[in-house]
Amino acid sequence: MDYHVQRTEDGETIGPQVILDKVLNALPDIVVITDGGIGTDSGPRIEFVNQAFGEFLGKHPQDIVGLPVSQFLKSYFGDATRTRFRTLITQGSPAQTRLVRTQDDGAKQYVEFHVVPILDPHGQLKHMIGVGRDVTQQCDALAKAVESEAYYRAIFDQSPHPVMIFSPAGEILSCNQAVLDRLGINMHELRKKSFAELVHPSDLQASFEHFKEAACGKTPAPLVARGRNRDGEYVEAAITDVPIVLDGKIVAVVAMMNDLTQLRRLEERLRLSANALANIAEAAVITTPDLSVISANRAFTSITGYMEAEFVGRSPLELWADDADQPSTEEVRLAIERDGYWQGETKNRRKSGETYPSLTAISAVRDQQDRITHFVGVFSDVSKFKAYEERLEHLAHHDSLTNLPNRAMFECHVNTAISRSKRNGKPFALMFLDLDQFKAVNDSLGHRAGDELLRSVAKRLSESLRGTDVVARLGGDEFGMLLGDLTSSTDAARVAEKVLTALSTPHLQPSYELFTSASVGLAIYPDDGEEPLTLLKNADAAMYLAKKEGRNTYRFFSADINAKAHEYLVLANNLRHALERNEFHLLFQPVVDLSTGRIIGAEALLRWTHPESGLVSPATFIPIAETTGLIGVIGEWVLYEACRQATQWQRLGHPPVRVAVNLSARQFREPGLVEKIEAVLAETGLAPQWLELEITETMMMENPERVKTILGELHARGISIAIDDFGTGYSSLSYLKAFPCDFVKIDRSFIDGVPKDQNDITITETVIGMAQRLGMRVIAEGIETSEQLEFLRRGGCEEGQGFLFSKPLPPGQIAKLLGQTHSLFPLTR
Ligand code: C2E
Ligand code: MG
Ligand code: MG
Repeated sequence: MDYHVQRTEDGETIGPQVILDKVLNALPDIVVITDGGIGTDSGPRIEFVNQAFGEFLGKHPQDIVGLPVSQFLKSYFGDATRTRFRTLITQGSPAQTRLVRTQDDGAKQYVEFHVVPILDPHGQLKHMIGVGRDVTQQCDALAKAVESEAYYRAIFDQSPHPVMIFSPAGEILSCNQAVLDRLGINMHELRKKSFAELVHPSDLQASFEHFKEAACGKTPAPLVARGRNRDGEYVEAAITDVPIVLDGKIVAVVAMMNDLTQLRRLEERLRLSANALANIAEAAVITTPDLSVISANRAFTSITGYMEAEFVGRSPLELWADDADQPSTEEVRLAIERDGYWQGETKNRRKSGETYPSLTAISAVRDQQDRITHFVGVFSDVSKFKAYEERLEHLAHHDSLTNLPNRAMFECHVNTAISRSKRNGKPFALMFLDLDQFKAVNDSLGHRAGDELLRSVAKRLSESLRGTDVVARLGGDEFGMLLGDLTSSTDAARVAEKVLTALSTPHLQPSYELFTSASVGLAIYPDDGEEPLTLLKNADAAMYLAKKEGRNTYRFFSADINAKAHEYLVLANNLRHALERNEFHLLFQPVVDLSTGRIIGAEALLRWTHPESGLVSPATFIPIAETTGLIGVIGEWVLYEACRQATQWQRLGHPPVRVAVNLSARQFREPGLVEKIEAVLAETGLAPQWLELEITETMMMENPERVKTILGELHARGISIAIDDFGTGYSSLSYLKAFPCDFVKIDRSFIDGVPKDQNDITITETVIGMAQRLGMRVIAEGIETSEQLEFLRRGGCEEGQGFLFSKPLPPGQIAKLLGQTHSLFPLTR
């Protein structure tokens, strides 16, 4: 077929070619036809281009027809296009390429070009037909699309939130990096995972439903479900499944996940904080920067009495009571500015009007710009602690038994009294009171009775004094009293008498009555001392004097007492050296058998010849030796000396007699007494039956069980025990029967009264009678007259001692007496 357009003078000829020509020119696509280029050097030439091609190139078709293809391409297309084209036509089969042409203004034009070679039966190229379509517009749109796709890809990939794309059937199509990071796997591994492997089993069903809804084109409300993370743990996420619809068709479902872990942690912390704040025992309020309450907790209501709603909008400062000691708001503000918080004690007022001490802490809450956004105030009611504190304070300064001030507190009171006296010039008195024989009550009736008596005494003392005076328990059975604003010492004497009278009425106990008396010493400020301790010491010394002078009485401190105290110190000091200086010696007072008048024993009595003072009475130095502890060594010396002397007499051929040794309380208290005595006996060679140990009732009552044991051991070794000064102490023979005693020595004070004083007669007779019934022998002390002797002999008293027979004598003279065979007194019977 000939495709050439045949022209006539009057225009185009209508024939098949013309029709074809018209068709080709009417086509919107470009059409070009070439020859086979056979027999030419320049290769195929353009035989035909249609109208559209001309328009595409901006040329008339006639200008193009006849051009060799290579030249045509060179003129209108770039190098890349030419190369592609050449490759294309050498293939010899239909091919497709894209032609790109750059216009004069630089804009690019794109043509999607199809080339069809037409070959003759010999395979020779006859023609090429090229059909192209200008796709410039589509290409531009595509380029734009590619560009925006890159944007969205970046958003998608770099989003910190995991995003996954599923097919509507549920296969994983794609996901962003956040998903892979969280799961700790790569895309390839993820694709192999099933839905069930990624979601918590309990949330699987709900997740499916959620996904299915999206897969059906709906956008369901976000779902909270737990997904697995790289460590295999499940973390909570809010999932939004969104369907992707293209051309009315659901092509995918995008699942966007919002990790809730951080949020949950934050929520948990907030919840905990809120919970803690709500439940703490302290009241907590949160205010705005201008102190308007926003919220308050439960404790706030229980402490202040205000409901939270009632107080919102009000200032917490309204809670502070009007009090001079209240910290100033300025002080609080400055502290908060400086330190960020303020803490201190405030006095607060409850809704009821009642005030209470409070420990308050206020701190400022600041934002990132350091501006105060809130204040938090926490306060507690510390009235209970205050009460505890006061109670502790009271306990520290008071005696728990009587609830009276203790010694420390009493000293404080004395200090105050001194200051007051200095101001008003009025003297005051310090009274020191010690109960008489209190130990006996404790020992015989028990500590409970002792405690009751102390309480009763405390009560009576308090009642005897004025409200401004002070009574304190200084310890044991000692009480201190402070009598203020005296006009004279007579006032103090009157109070002392009143106190003694108050104590003399029996103290009624549920099952018995207790009698007690006390010894009182008085010291006056400022005459008897200017310091609390001096005053106390002097009142104590005066009390000792009262004790010494018969008890149940009071004595004023005097310079004389002071002198005695001084003397005491000097004596105590000298006593320390008395043994080594050989200042001690023993005298022996004969003990006489009252029926025969013969000497049957001798009591060793210690004498101290002081280098300056001369002979010092044992009544003076024995108590000093006791308090200084020197009695231990002195007592041992006496024991050794007495035993040695007794053996000596025996060695001289005299009939053996009992030698009596006085023991002191202290010797009894110290361990090893029995062993010491045994050692002395062994060393001196005295048989135990010739040793008699004298102890007093008071010593026995000090620790009855221990004394009983020791006496038992001594007795078992054959040593005799005598109760000395009987009648001056506890005086209960029936009680003493529990002790292994051989002798009772009736005290001189009773013998003194016989045979005239009926009381002494009764006592003496009773003691003799009872002692005999208990199998003890009675020794009467201090027999000075023959009347006394007669009375005692008649009464059945077996033995006696006294000036009537002999004073205490040096050992040599005793030896002489031992040598005599006659009676030491004229025998009347
Ligand atoms: P005591 O054991 O009751 O001794 C009897 C005291 O009465 C002795 O006084 C003695 O001299 C005195 N005396 C004896 N007969 C008469 C009398 O007819 N009329 C008067 N007015 N007095 C008489 P002394 O020797 O001054 O001893 C006083 C106290 O000293 C003793 O009382 C005894 O308790 C204690 N004592 C003496 N020597 C020692 C000793 O070596 N050790 C201990 N621990 N105490 C001793
Ligand atoms: Mg004695
Ligand atoms: Mg005696």
